[in-house]
Amino acid sequence: MNYDIDKERIDKERIDNTDWHAIGVDQALEKLNATSQGLTEQSVRQRLQQFGPNELPEIKRNGPLIRLLLQFHNVLIYILIVAGIAKAALGSWVDAGVIFAVVIVNGIIGFVQEGRAEKALDAIRQMLSLKATLRRSGQRVSVPTSEIVPGDVVLLASGDKVPADLRLIESRELRIDEAMLTGESVPAEKNIDALAAEVALGDRCSLAFSGTLVTSGRGVGVVVKTGEATELGKISNLVSATAAITTPLIAKVNRFAHFLAILIVVVAGLTIVIGYVLGRMSLIDLFFAAIALAVAAIPEGLPAIMTIVLAIGVRRMANRNAIIRRLAAVDTLGALTVICSDKTGTLTRNEMTVTSVAIADGIVDVSGTGYQPEGELSLNGQSLNLDDFPHLSLLLQAGILCSEADLTEENGVWRTSGDPMEGALLTLAAKAGLQFQQQRQAWETLDTIPFESENRFMATLHPIPNEESVTAELGQRLAFIKGAPERILDCCHQVLTADGSREIDVNEWHQLEQQMANNGQRVLALACKSLEADAQQLDFESVQQDLTLLGLTGIIDPPRDEAIAAVQQCQGAGIRVVMITGDHALTARAIGEKLNIGDGQTATTGAEIDEMDESHLIETVGRCSVFARVSPEHKLRLVEAIQANRQVVAMTGDGVNDAPALKRADVGIAMGLKGTEVTKEAAEMVLADDNFASIAKAVEEGRTVFDNLRKALLFILPTNGGEALTILAAILLGFVLPMTPVQVLWVNMITAVTLGLALAFEPPERDVMKRKPRDPAAHLLSRYFIWRILFVSVIICVGTFGIFSWARLEGFAEDYARTLAVNTIVMFEAFYLFNTRFLTAPILNRQGLFGSRPVLISVALVIIFQILFTYFGPLQSIMGSTAIFARDWLKIVLVASSVLWIVEIEKWVMSRLERNRDTVVRQTNHERKSQSDVH
Ligand code: ADP
Ligand code: MG
Repeated sequence: MNYDIDKERIDKERIDNTDWHAIGVDQALEKLNATSQGLTEQSVRQRLQQFGPNELPEIKRNGPLIRLLLQFHNVLIYILIVAGIAKAALGSWVDAGVIFAVVIVNGIIGFVQEGRAEKALDAIRQMLSLKATLRRSGQRVSVPTSEIVPGDVVLLASGDKVPADLRLIESRELRIDEAMLTGESVPAEKNIDALAAEVALGDRCSLAFSGTLVTSGRGVGVVVKTGEATELGKISNLVSATAAITTPLIAKVNRFAHFLAILIVVVAGLTIVIGYVLGRMSLIDLFFAAIALAVAAIPEGLPAIMTIVLAIGVRRMANRNAIIRRLAAVDTLGALTVICSDKTGTLTRNEMTVTSVAIADGIVDVSGTGYQPEGELSLNGQSLNLDDFPHLSLLLQAGILCSEADLTEENGVWRTSGDPMEGALLTLAAKAGLQFQQQRQAWETLDTIPFESENRFMATLHPIPNEESVTAELGQRLAFIKGAPERILDCCHQVLTADGSREIDVNEWHQLEQQMANNGQRVLALACKSLEADAQQLDFESVQQDLTLLGLTGIIDPPRDEAIAAVQQCQGAGIRVVMITGDHALTARAIGEKLNIGDGQTATTGAEIDEMDESHLIETVGRCSVFARVSPEHKLRLVEAIQANRQVVAMTGDGVNDAPALKRADVGIAMGLKGTEVTKEAAEMVLADDNFASIAKAVEEGRTVFDNLRKALLFILPTNGGEALTILAAILLGFVLPMTPVQVLWVNMITAVTLGLALAFEPPERDVMKRKPRDPAAHLLSRYFIWRILFVSVIICVGTFGIFSWARLEGFAEDYARTLAVNTIVMFEAFYLFNTRFLTAPILNRQGLFGSRPVLISVALVIIFQILFTYFGPLQSIMGSTAIFARDWLKIVLVASSVLWIVEIEKWVMSRLERNRDTVVRQTNHERKSQSDVH
């Protein structure tokens, strides 16, 4: 049919004012100028122009001005402003100018960095853009939700998020969770009947609303409203949420830093009092000394650096296919002790191949790999002719018809869209010469019971085409059923052979099934049932009675190579990997063995879980790592039982019914490719490639983020500590200040934006995946690190104050001695940066000294800045610095490098002590054990 563009232009007003729930399906389609076959590309384009994209306006954020002003809301800035005003009041215009300049520059740097971190995270969120399944020009297509227009026909299945407001035109057991719109927690049952116009929103059963979640069943709807016109659009300006870039751990440190800042202000105030009592300094000098002290001691760069560490970590995870939806998960990832993973597609490749088919005559071997339809069917080593095996032919037809997949070739590569197992059945049929396109054309499908993991079977209903002879004895209508053998075999009364059906020996078939499963094959049973000529619909009961078995197919789905390596890596990192699958226990066990999950002996089944009480289950999850024939509701119990053992657990999932388990798990992980929208919504993290290896990478990055946060603390706090102690020493000893407030500001500015930032880019340490998981209760700062911070603060203080007082005793002028002090402290920090690169491992090696480009660049920058500080005229006059002799640089570098050696020695001593303690602990454990052995 040729569409006329102008005829396509539909009346927007009329669409807005229609009570869609109150009119019939045909009327609705007519008003929308649509058909159940969907719009053509042409009219979609036209309507997209008319109605605009199906998007809600961006959530309003704080404007740039507010965000800039927020940067100044900080204790340090307040102190600086007070100092600046005081300086100005005393007529020190240069100092006042410097202070205000620092305040502004500081604000701008914070603003820019925060903006960049936010942008990076936004980009990651964008990676999860939504898609919907539509029917357009009679074809099933997957389309970004933003390109949906009124009149489009949307196909809904359980787990989907409704992409726009729809008038339903087909519904099969469709239930939709509308809690977000109506607050009603029980999913609403949907149908296609027209209702009275005044029915309330929550009761409009013939409509599906944008943003709501399909919990079960299937449906088809025609789009009536998109974007802001939808019910969701009407309320969406109410839900504006800006998530702060933080995690619980970081929030904790920020609270600590805030507390520290206030404490420092109090201490600085006290110093004025004490200094005044000591009487060695004038009040004005004391005031500025106190300001210098506060500025030196407050770690103002800390929050920004932590935000950046987090943003970089999250971006690195995204680059490795793990998309973080909730930032808090970053903390938890580093502390995981158990990962529960789906088998099919996550641990295995999900590239399925049928390798054997059991029929009444025996086991047919199938050659060939992948979806490529090249291979041969043979029975007892003899290649087999389908004409002699009409029952096998019917089995292949069942595989084609009882399926929603298809098979395509592109550049010689064969793929399937849809369920890979169904794709494997299409390939199998093609190997025997049956093309799925022809078969599906000849056999109409009247009804379908779709596959759900709870049911473990699928069924379809077909009228038998006239030309079919083989099935003549079977009646007028034929249902095909395929599913897990234990669901099918016991419903079969007979089995089809070349000469019609005969009585079945179910035990024999069960044995065949076990034999196939033991080889790690996924076994699927196929059956058929003849129905009356007027059968239009399938019902659950009838497809589970009185079936005729066609045979079993054995399908291999090899483990992913990278998953085998990743499982090993996780186990080395002290994380237990648990495999959870809907597959048969024997198949699961065999695959588990290849992946080195579990002991290759035990697999607990869903039925066994049903029998267990809480305590038994808790005990079982402690030792068993393979769970088979598990349905989604078991997953929730498994998560809870594992958590009862005080484990931090991650759980993967893809279906709607996995959502509760994902929510309950410490880290819920959804599949990006085959996962439903509902699952993604419930998850903390989404795997872009559905691959287990990406979980291991995310754990590695999570641990690295934790490390890098600690490194930032370990670097920044002693820097402030060292400066503060130096100034404090001078005040208490009655010396002139080793650094003026302006010089302190210089040191902080220069080091915060260069040195500290370099640590945010630190790659994972070599042993991150060899350590045990972190205790989830552990603070970022362990007792050992607090010791290190104090220790280094003292080193920096002694060195800096030492050089300063030496210069003064030698008779150098104040500004000369101060220039030495400033250079010393900055060099201390540059050297100490290397120590911090590895928390406890030695850095005096190539990797440690030269392994990080950001570190080298930032050190080079700092050296340039210090040379400018010392020799560049304009800076000299602003900063009160002066040129120094070359031989004094030598002294500075010698003194400052001491921190490098001393901390490395300290690390070495500490690791020796640690090792000794470990051996002692191990010995006592050993003794205890041998004692108990005696008893
Ligand atoms: P898994 O955890 O391995 O993905 P599923 O829940 O998808 O498990 O499948 C469980 C069982 O259900 C399979 O072993 C198979 O017997 C059966 N099954 C899976 N997919 C289909 C399907 N599309 N049609 C019929 N039966 C299926
Ligand atoms: Mg599956």
